[in-house]
Amino acid sequence: MQRETLSRRSVLAIATGCTVAGVGATTVSGVLEDGTAAADTAEEDLSRESFSIMEGTSRETTVYVTEAPVEGPTVVVTGGMHGNEVAGYEAAGDIADWRIDAGTLVAIPEANAAAVEEGTRSGDDWGDLNRQFPEGSEPETDLARAIWDVLVEYDADVVVDLHESTGIYAGDPVDGVGQAIFHSDGAEAVETARAAAEYVNRTSVDDPELAFEIGPFSGPDTEPNGLLVHKAARDLGAESYLVETLSTDVDLETRVRWHLTIAEQLVADDLFPEDEPDNEHEPDVDEDADASDDDPAEGESDGTGDESDGDGENAADGTDENAGDAGADDASPIAKITTEPANAGDVALEPGQTVTLDATCSNAREGRLVCYEWDVGGNDQFDERGETLQVTAGDVGRDTVVLRVTDDADRTTTASITLSTD
Ligand SMILES: [Zn+2]
Repeated sequence: MQRETLSRRSVLAIATGCTVAGVGATTVSGVLEDGTAAADTAEEDLSRESFSIMEGTSRETTVYVTEAPVEGPTVVVTGGMHGNEVAGYEAAGDIADWRIDAGTLVAIPEANAAAVEEGTRSGDDWGDLNRQFPEGSEPETDLARAIWDVLVEYDADVVVDLHESTGIYAGDPVDGVGQAIFHSDGAEAVETARAAAEYVNRTSVDDPELAFEIGPFSGPDTEPNGLLVHKAARDLGAESYLVETLSTDVDLETRVRWHLTIAEQLVADDLFPEDEPDNEHEPDVDEDADASDDDPAEGESDGTGDESDGDGENAADGTDENAGDAGADDASPIAKITTEPANAGDVALEPGQTVTLDATCSNAREGRLVCYEWDVGGNDQFDERGETLQVTAGDVGRDTVVLRVTDDADRTTTASITLSTD
């Protein structure tokens, strides 16, 4: 396996005529401009069908089912649980058309079609759809039941629900839950969410303030509850994710692209298994090459609601180390940040408080690490060197610190931590 990786790598190096440092950023399949995932499977080899649920009612909506010729898990993607969270349902609509390499993809882009039609959170008087999936008991409305029946019938292994929020998540949902990936319990879901956040931050988030964070689901007896992803995780045992972008001050196209990129990273192992040899032809995203997605231009007139979404969860991710590109590339080093005090990434720090960042838990998968660099502020300026770094929490707001480790073959991986005083 290692050897295979090495030989592929050297072929690549020759073919491209440049160093392959930073290949840790290689995407597994890549989302094309039109939002279609770049798979190796030909369209004619896919089985596609669609059907309606709630047929003949104002809630009628379409379920799209794509089956790949290769067996694999079932992934369910939902959007439009809230009708004013435009990027979520736009992305889910694109995802319905993905050409997948393995498994089954079930997409319900407009879960609450009446709310989408109205451009409001909940539509008419049926209440908040994403509070109607109590754990351990029946969904509370006909629409919630119909959606749940789809998950049960297709035996969902992975569920991804796409949302938007008017505020940014900073460890507590009170102020909003934008720019966050919430995940079900279990090491794999945590690591998948972390890797997806790290990937999208590195490849398509220019403003450190808009870096995606991850967080666990709230407990069954803790608000908010009745969420589809909670029920999917706890009643079906599905690996589940809720993705939130910030709906204000970021253009719709960027938000949709964030959703597509994150969703793709979350399900890559399921629908685009890595052993496809063609995957190596995907763009080698240089970690310094930020995508040009930065015009935070005027908000789209998308009827974004005036309330925080509130789908968010209760705590920060409960750990203070960020694994870097783990899983993205076999040979890239693993970047890890631990902190003293131990939970510095999860709590509000006192202004002026000193935090020690420690990179010594990082390691090389091959060879050894030769360089530890730090970018304080997330500005792509790696001005500091050393295995540890002392930083002082600022007076207000959040500061992102990025660690970059380099091994003796010049392969790099980054990890980041956000320190907050509010
Ligand atoms: Zn929502």
